[in-house]
Amino acid sequence: MAPDFEAVESLNAILGERGDLISDGRPSLQMTPAELVDSVLEVGQDLEVIPAHIWTPWFSLFGSNSGFDSVEEAFEDASAHIHALETGLSSDPPMNWRLSSLDRYTLVSSSDAHSPWSWRIGRELNVFDLKEPSYRTLLRAIRSKSPSEFLFTVETNPAYGKYHYDGHSKCGVRLHPKEAMKLGNRCPVCGKRLTIGVLHRVEELADRPEGYMPTGALPYKDLLPLYEVISFSLGSGEKYSKRMLKIYNELINRFGNELKILMEVPLDEISSVVGDSIANSILLIREGKVEIEPGYDGVYGKPVFFGEAKTDKKRVDGLEGYLR
Ligand SMILES: [Zn+2]
Ligand SMILES: [Zn+2]
Repeated sequence: MAPDFEAVESLNAILGERGDLISDGRPSLQMTPAELVDSVLEVGQDLEVIPAHIWTPWFSLFGSNSGFDSVEEAFEDASAHIHALETGLSSDPPMNWRLSSLDRYTLVSSSDAHSPWSWRIGRELNVFDLKEPSYRTLLRAIRSKSPSEFLFTVETNPAYGKYHYDGHSKCGVRLHPKEAMKLGNRCPVCGKRLTIGVLHRVEELADRPEGYMPTGALPYKDLLPLYEVISFSLGSGEKYSKRMLKIYNELINRFGNELKILMEVPLDEISSVVGDSIANSILLIREGKVEIEPGYDGVYGKPVFFGEAKTDKKRVDGLEGYLR
């Protein structure tokens, strides 16, 4: 985060000497994480480094393929300047609450929109209540983790991710990491090593059981982007179609914006515009009652809105399912 474009230009001048900032939105810099933080703070003490999507398997703080085991291991002396961590689409607050070493950090959530599709924007977000909204008060709310100013984050359930559980899609095997560990991370069908998911990495580093909530943790809400709600309610989750977009636009034109539709608009009003099926799905989301078939081995997770999963019956759900 930076307070103004002047600060960004100064920072770019410094970082430009360590790598090509133009060729990629996510440039590779020849420097350690600690050096990066020092360079940012050289520009001003009111700039903030927030490690992003910290559990993504590749190039992230805790990623299973190249990550560190703690913030301190990554940022060394500079870790005192890290106040917040961005949980990314692949994790939600409860996954992060399982590591006591993360208690002191504010957990923020961002869209990570790297594509031009409009529904990628705002799929995760932070909700603040600032008396006088400004960069300064925003930064203060993040650094202080004050529950009166930082109200909650909006999350997309990480179980929708392609690598949440462990498994083998070819063999139809999907396992919670605890079950995979019992099997020595070998596939019970073909005997080869399972593709390991993000939850497994959390399980490895966690020092608390699933479901633990530390004191002082900020609340969160699970939502699903409206486009995907429509898509899963009416079809099998296709990512783009004219029919879906038409329904999406009808709702937006009528009610103003996506979050209002997902959180506030009375359901009978929604159903009068687009029918019961979508309204019912939104009800389930509001009540936190959406069941999700977790993603694994490159297969996206999906919501089960109407009690019947549209998936392959051969698929093995957990160790018990396999042994049955
Ligand atoms: Zn990203
Ligand atoms: Zn297999």
